Amino acid sequence: MSTVAAFQLLDGRRCGAALQADIAAKALGTKAQCGRAPHLAAVLVGNDGASKTYVEAKVKACEGVGFRSTLIRLPETITEEDLLGRVKSLNNDTELDGFIVQLPLPAHIDADRVIQAIDPRKDVDGFHPLNVGNMVLGLPGFLPATPSGICELLKYYSIETAGKHCVVVGRSNIVGTPISILLSRNAYPGNCTVTLAHSRTKDLASITRQADLLVVAIGKPEFVTADMVKEGAVVIDVGIHRIPDAARKSGFRLVGDVKLDEVAPKCSWISPVPGGVGPMTITSLLLNTLRAAKRS
Ligand code: NDP
Repeated sequence: MSTVAAFQLLDGRRCGAALQADIAAKALGTKAQCGRAPHLAAVLVGNDGASKTYVEAKVKACEGVGFRSTLIRLPETITEEDLLGRVKSLNNDTELDGFIVQLPLPAHIDADRVIQAIDPRKDVDGFHPLNVGNMVLGLPGFLPATPSGICELLKYYSIETAGKHCVVVGRSNIVGTPISILLSRNAYPGNCTVTLAHSRTKDLASITRQADLLVVAIGKPEFVTADMVKEGAVVIDVGIHRIPDAARKSGFRLVGDVKLDEVAPKCSWISPVPGGVGPMTITSLLLNTLRAAKRS
């Protein structure tokens, strides 16, 4: 039975808004200094509905903090060589501080090749091997947006992490692996003892139940249930899924990788979906763009 009387929300909208107000003020300073606002471009290949929504949210967030933004829409049928050509021209565009290529890309395009073609100085998603290497070594560089956003959220709510057992479920290059690295670093947030679980992990529930801090990024709707979570745990839900819902005007509702209703009462803190990690990912992208603008 649940013994934690009340859980608290790790509210990504609130935290994101506070950080974005600060970014907007700094963007004004950058504009005054450099004669132009920080400028982010987003490349969207094809017509995937979710990718379009994410990219549009990123462009809108740029407007909200006074950045310039450019949305580059390319057809699903674009060849890898042509996309690499676009990346090259964005690398050379002196009016542009940073850009992202929204993933996933169509199957005929090698996403690794595209990421590696991005100038690391403009790689505000933090996916280029050079930036990943800098992150591992604790050197300056662009941190990947979602893990960095999770760290900002933990900082904003002053969540203690040192000495905690953190279980990360999912080992993708963009979420699970980098957050496992960041939370094990000798820093705040960090200094956790980290277990990284994945699809080959045996008896996952017995491991997640040991977590003081549980980060779930597996891409399976409402996968984590109450019996998989320790009383009083801090839970970060990275997943985001559209579930058909005829009762909604949109025809769908958003859920995470965690069954929020039943897990939340067991937690001390939990990030909701929507309104948790999603807004923080966008905020981190803005932070990286601001840093890129200051550098250039
Ligand atoms: P990936 O599909 O790239 O990775 C999923 C990971 O989960 C893999 O490492 C996989 O293991 C593991 N996994 C899958 N099934 C299980 C299982 N049954 N038990 C244990 N581990 C399992 O996903 P992403 O990291 O890209 O994304 C995860 C979720 O987060 C998605 O819902 C995505 O939409 C969302 N997301 C949200 C963001 C936001 O801003 N809110 C940003 C990025 C992602 P293996 O490696 O063995 O295959």
